[in-house]
Order: sequence, then C-alpha cells, then structure tokens
Amino acid sequence: MSDNLSLSPREREPSERINDFEEVVKGYSEEEALKEASRCLQCKKPTCIEGCPVGIDIKRFIYHITQRDYLSAYKVIREKNDFPSICGRVCPAEYQCRRTCILTPPGRNVCSPKSINIPLLERFIGDWAIKNNVDISVSLKKKTEYKVAVIGSGPAGLSCAGNLIREGVEVSVFESLHTLGGVLSYGIPSFRLPRQILEHEIRYLKKMGVNFILNCLVGKTKTLEQLKQEGFDFFFIGTGAGTPLMLNIPGENLCGIYSANEFLVRVNLMKAYKFPKYHTPVNIGRKVIVIGGGNTAIDAARCALRLQKINGLEPCVTVVYRRTLQEMPSRIVEIEHAQQEGVNFKFLLQPQQFVPDANNWIKEVVFFECFLGEPDESGRRRPVIIPDKKVRLEADTVIVAIGLKANVSFSSTVEKLEVNRKGEIIVDPQTMQTSLDNIYAGGDAVGGEGTVIEAMGMGKKAALSILQRINRRSSGH
Ligand code: FAD
Ligand code: SF4
Repeated sequence: MSDNLSLSPREREPSERINDFEEVVKGYSEEEALKEASRCLQCKKPTCIEGCPVGIDIKRFIYHITQRDYLSAYKVIREKNDFPSICGRVCPAEYQCRRTCILTPPGRNVCSPKSINIPLLERFIGDWAIKNNVDISVSLKKKTEYKVAVIGSGPAGLSCAGNLIREGVEVSVFESLHTLGGVLSYGIPSFRLPRQILEHEIRYLKKMGVNFILNCLVGKTKTLEQLKQEGFDFFFIGTGAGTPLMLNIPGENLCGIYSANEFLVRVNLMKAYKFPKYHTPVNIGRKVIVIGGGNTAIDAARCALRLQKINGLEPCVTVVYRRTLQEMPSRIVEIEHAQQEGVNFKFLLQPQQFVPDANNWIKEVVFFECFLGEPDESGRRRPVIIPDKKVRLEADTVIVAIGLKANVSFSSTVEKLEVNRKGEIIVDPQTMQTSLDNIYAGGDAVGGEGTVIEAMGMGKKAALSILQRINRRSSGH
C-alpha cells in the first residue's frame, strides 16, 4: 500500500467465505487503526463532518485514536451515534464522510482512495467497546410524565427511541416481526452485519429502559386509538419501505420466482441456510438469476451463491441489470465482493417475460436488449428497449430485486394522515411532524429507500422535536 492511500481492511478469501454466512470484512487491527488514523490531517475546517448525516465529530474521535485513548473516541462517537459498530459496517461512506474528506478532490461524486477510511475507524472503536464491555454511563434524565410509542424497530425507530429515553421520556417500540432491527435484521445478511453486533447495540437500548413489544402489527393488532387510550402522548412512525415492487410481466407468478424481500427474510430471519437445524428451507436452483442493481440485489445474489455451495451445487448466479455497472446503485465494495465470489453480471437487459417448464416452474427469462438514453429524474441515463433484440437466459430460480415502496400497514389505518402518491408519509422536514398533531415519522417510510444512517438521522430529528414539545408543555406553554 502507498502511504498516500487509505489502508484496506483484511478480508476472508472468496473461496473460503462462500461456504458460510460468517463476516467477510475483518476490519482493522489496533496497529492498522493507528496507522490509518495517523493519516488524518486534523484539518482546521474538517469537511468530513459535513458528509455525516448525524454530524459525528470525526476529527476529534480520530484524534483520540492517535492518542490510543479509545474510550474518549467512543464517547465522541456516542454523542451523535448510538450504533457505531453497525454504521462502521454498512454506511455508504464513500458517498458521505469519505467523499467530503479533504483528501477527496472537490467535485467527485464518490470518495478518493486517498480519503481517510472513517467507517473502518468507527467500526474499530465500536468493536473495541463491545469487546471490552464498555458501558459508558449515559446519565439518564429524571423521568417525564410523557409516553411515546415508536412504531417499527428499524434504525429510524431505534434511533428515535434512544434519543428519547436518554432524556427521561418513557418509550415503547412496537415491532410487527418476532425480531428487532428492521432491515438490519431481515435484509442485510450476517456476512455483512453479524447478528451479535446488532443484538449488542439493541441490548444497550434495553438497558437504558426502552420497552420493546414484538409480534405487534400496529394498525391491526393494536390501533392508534388503543395506543392513545393506553396513555401514549406522541407517536413516531418508522415502518420502513418493506413492500417489494414487482415487474408485472407475464409469468411472474411461476414457481421458483421470489421477491428479494421474501428470499432475504427466509435466509436471514428464518435461517434457511441452517436447514434442517431450522425447519424453514428455501428452494435454491442450479441457475439463479437476480434482477436489479441495488444493495438488495447484490445481497440476494451473494446469499443465493452461498446457499448453492452449502447445498453442494456448482455456484451459478447472475445479476441482470437494465443499465450498466456505472449506474448500479449498490455500494461499489459490495459489487466487488460479489464479483470476487463468482457472481456473474449482465447489463443492458430488461425482463420481458418468464417462461415455464411443464410443471409451471420457471425455465427461462426473456429479456429485451437496451441502450442508454437521456438521463431520467434520478440523474442516471435511462435504459431504452430495442424491441426486436431479445436474449433468453435459462433459470430455475429468479429473485426480483427492483426496489421497495413504503409499508402502509399502519399509515393506511390512520385517518387524515397525508401521504404522497407512492404512499410515503409527508412530513415537515425541519421537525419530522406529519400532517397530524403529535404524530412524527422518519426513515424509509418518509423518504423511500435510503440508508441506515439517513434513517437514524431522521429518527433523531423527530426525537428532538418531540422533546421540544414535551419541554414546552412541561413549562406550561
Ligand atoms: P426498516 O429498517 O425497514 O424498519 C422498519 C420496521 O418497521 C421493520 O422491522 C418492520 O417490520 C416494522 N413495521 C412495519 N410496519 C409495522 C407496523 N404496522 N407495526 C409494527 N412494526 C411495523 N443501507 C445502508 O446504509 N447500507 C447498506 O449496506 C444497506 N443495505 C441494504 C440491504 C438491503 C437488502 C435492504 C433492503 C436495504 C439496505 N439498506 C442499506 C437500506 C437501509 O437498510 C434502510 O434505508 C433502513 O433500514 C431504513 O430504516 P427504517 O427504520 O426506516 O426501516
Ligand atoms: Fe481528517 Fe479528512 Fe476530516 Fe480532514 S477532512 S479531519 S483529513 S477525516
């Protein structure tokens, strides 16, 4: 490595890691963390902070690392972020703090390899705290008389709950699934985010006094009115974007075709890869096609490849995307990992129909060839179909990962709650308040598919607005 470039983390060999669901990236050793931290220029104007959606004082925590004062570094991060070990693993820092680091030349839309590897330093500190059982005594304020119900336990809900409990507000988090964490638990595979890390960070909130209620689909199991009758004064909706978009083309209901959500839930939550120890297998074919180009598509492809290996099959997984590698919304590092592991990629193909075999099982996918036209509203060049040019690819498993939209299981039950045409809840971006008094919202339920740290940022903003309201009421205004 040149001293000018950021230090790459240690990773498990692809040939080894595709046999299991254990973590791929090893992170920095102490020596490596010290070396990387020493590259930081300790800028007078630390532009890195502008790129962090929750405003961590990056310069200060890196300084403490250089002094080997890891406890102080941890405290600095925890001032703004409750989940350093999670964010240090999954944050798309290449488009955030690393992109705004002074070592990335201005005007680039992705970081330079020279920029400081901030997330790996954050992860080093978060993991150090876990390993050393560090329990910084967060001074909990005296209890207020107010109660808040948080609906959904993804990063938005957890961050909102953490920020409220610290200020003495009684918080209950209601989660429809049997497990906490939202996408962190059912979407992102354990080879990217080990579950013990997530469990540790959630345990911290439990210790602070957050009350968690599982298996409760708010809107059905309990209504908003019932929660009000139970004495809740304020509400935060963090129900995410868990409804899969489908292609709506012929044959989409054939056997062997999954939405990525269903596939990932079966693998991550129901532990399909541990069958027969867990009684929930997932059918995996010899030829898997994943349609899409985001994080979800890459995660599904890498899970499918591992399942093939575990089932003794020759790995054969192909991600098919309608634009090119350059426009893929997935994190670059995840695409590279998938390529190293043997996932194939095909570009500029748009699915036209699914073709069955005699048993109504998927046999073949027919695609239109495309070329790139003018940019669309996302700024990426639009794929244009060439109608008379078709490609046929064999497949016995297809995973559709073309996007997600808001989960409306709760919002659709709340009268007069304003949503946009996509079902996303409309909020005042300054306060995260919805069209209804005392009801706030954040995360993917508001902004559509986003990132973990953005969801956490919105959860925190809503918590601060609720706290202001509580303080005003407490002082008689
Ligand atoms: P979610 O995480 O979706 O959580 C919402 C929770 O609300 C869920 O647990 C759901 O069960 C619950 N819920 C819904 N309705 C109800 C109800 N009526 N009652 C009770 N509970 C309810 N972002 C990154 O930054 N980095 C990544 O590497 C990354 N990878 C991703 C990979 C995948 C496969 C996916 C799908 C997303 C990924 N993302 C990534 C995006 C990121 O995970 C999301 O932006 C983030 O989780 C949104 O958080 P949230 O709290 O708004 O919603
Ligand atoms: Fe260090 Fe980069 Fe932040 Fe400057 S901008 S303080 S070099 S991380």
